[in-house]
Amino acid sequence: MSVAEYMELCVSHYYANNNPFGKEGDFITAPEISQIFGELIGAWLQNIWQSSLDGQAILCEVGPGRGTLMRDALRATKNSEFHKNIDICLIETSHALRGVQAERLQVTHPRISWHNTLDNLPSMPLFLIANEFFDALPIRQYLENNEERKIITNENTLSFSPDGKVTREESPASVSIMKQIAEHIKKYGGAALIIDYGYTTTTHGDSLQAMKNHKYVEPLQEPGEADITAHVDFTTLKNAAAETGSHVWGAVEQGTFLNRLGAELRAINLCKSASDTQQKEILSGLERLTSPHQMGTLFKVLAITSDGNKPIGF
Ligand code: SAH
Repeated sequence: MSVAEYMELCVSHYYANNNPFGKEGDFITAPEISQIFGELIGAWLQNIWQSSLDGQAILCEVGPGRGTLMRDALRATKNSEFHKNIDICLIETSHALRGVQAERLQVTHPRISWHNTLDNLPSMPLFLIANEFFDALPIRQYLENNEERKIITNENTLSFSPDGKVTREESPASVSIMKQIAEHIKKYGGAALIIDYGYTTTTHGDSLQAMKNHKYVEPLQEPGEADITAHVDFTTLKNAAAETGSHVWGAVEQGTFLNRLGAELRAINLCKSASDTQQKEILSGLERLTSPHQMGTLFKVLAITSDGNKPIGF
């Protein structure tokens, strides 16, 4: 099978059967590190909604995980006109995670629905967030001679074939979802934020990786039991979105984006009513999200808007 087919099988099995997030899980994502992440994203979305539209819209998250980002975004914008005007659509294929999301989010908003894909979004303006979603989408890998890398089984072991260095990756699934989002925004209005770790140069080698218990493991080692991902090719995503005629911004580094949105000020405010231990957590969370040595530069943020006004943070 192709690397893409393998990845797709692994990812769907993994999210259906594991509790991947947090200390006890396999990895930790930005919204699980600090509430500031989801709060600032909520404010960003509300700000664009207010200045561009101020009417009925869909608030959509693709791959919401445990629903933490959405919970924090909704809390930060509570009792607002934005809330009254949005219907929430969560795109999630894992039934187990849908359950977690329902439990945590149903108290926060009266209109939430779940979908497997973006195919049947209502014809309304779309405000969309994708954090660490595109890295889970399948990639194809090619060797120097342009031959596609495959995965073969031999007895009970998996191996790559043919041997050789991977010089190029492609993610047709990512491109198609990106286009779908950008086309919707171009047609009906709205904005999207895509946040992930990845690269902005077009040449890149093998970025397939797997993580279990916060450690890297060989991608073929524990199929479906480790979190298998690939780096996101932001240049290709950007071009795919731009082709639809929508406006594309970034990618900027996550640290820059969050600082421009006032992450530090928010942390200082949170510290005011926090205990010593909590203050340490707030500041180390901020550091983790924004420092170049941690998630600040590896993670990048891309925005799509329907109008040409430069959004905050870009
Ligand atoms: N955004 C969350 C979770 C990231 S993990 C966070 O930042 O914590 C990836 C998420 O995408 C999981 O919720 C997983 O179940 C979901 N997912 C993976 N592949 C998907 C697909 N093809 N369609 C819809 N959801 C998918």
